[in-house]
Amino acid sequence: MAREGILIVLSGFSGAGKGSIVKELIERYEQYALSISATTRAPRPGEEEGIAYFFKSREAFQQMIAEDALVEYAQYVDNYYGTPRAYVEEQLAKGKDVLLEIEIQGARKIKEQFPEAVLLFVTTKDIQTLEQRLAGRGTETKEVITQRLKRAVEESEGMEEYDYLVINDQLDTCVKQIHSIIESEHLKTRRNQAFVGKVREELKRFSKGE
Ligand code: 5GP
Repeated sequence: MAREGILIVLSGFSGAGKGSIVKELIERYEQYALSISATTRAPRPGEEEGIAYFFKSREAFQQMIAEDALVEYAQYVDNYYGTPRAYVEEQLAKGKDVLLEIEIQGARKIKEQFPEAVLLFVTTKDIQTLEQRLAGRGTETKEVITQRLKRAVEESEGMEEYDYLVINDQLDTCVKQIHSIIESEHLKTRRNQAFVGKVREELKRFSKGE
């Protein structure tokens, strides 16, 4: 039976380890496809065009908005981030589970447009760990880290809007947990209406001795 692809939103505080989680999901299981976002943020050392992000000027980003080329977009600490529409639609049509690593405003817009999307919120086990990871990454200035922590306070207000809360203490455990959530989502009866209908029809015919 062909499965329908699920749109998966992964949000969480900066430093919660979302990047490592999606990388592992893609490497371990063939069913996932990772959407690469467009952003006006400058690349961090080692971030490659088309792999980490599609890096855009403000003008080019505005153009994408005007052309309706983004499923959603949002502003985050002075920069724009958005999800290109074509890739998401193409991968879902192929039956892939599409991962969006996006912040909360984007997550809300996705839920409005795709009510069947699964929203996961990732956090560290405590805030001290978050601070250590953010500082340890060494890619942001103190000022940006402070802005990101401030933003985390705002995002924490919306945690209940997500379907699942995932604690990234041990990466391997967390990745397995997310995969099992998605596998369970695939088994929801409402995602399997075609199969349910087929079983009903066959049963009816069988009961009539056909
Ligand atoms: P970073 O600058 O750390 O790569 O990303 C900053 C924030 O933007 C993260 O919370 C990340 O999940 C979010 N983000 C990345 N891409 C998108 C996107 O396409 N749309 C939205 N709404 N948020 C995004």
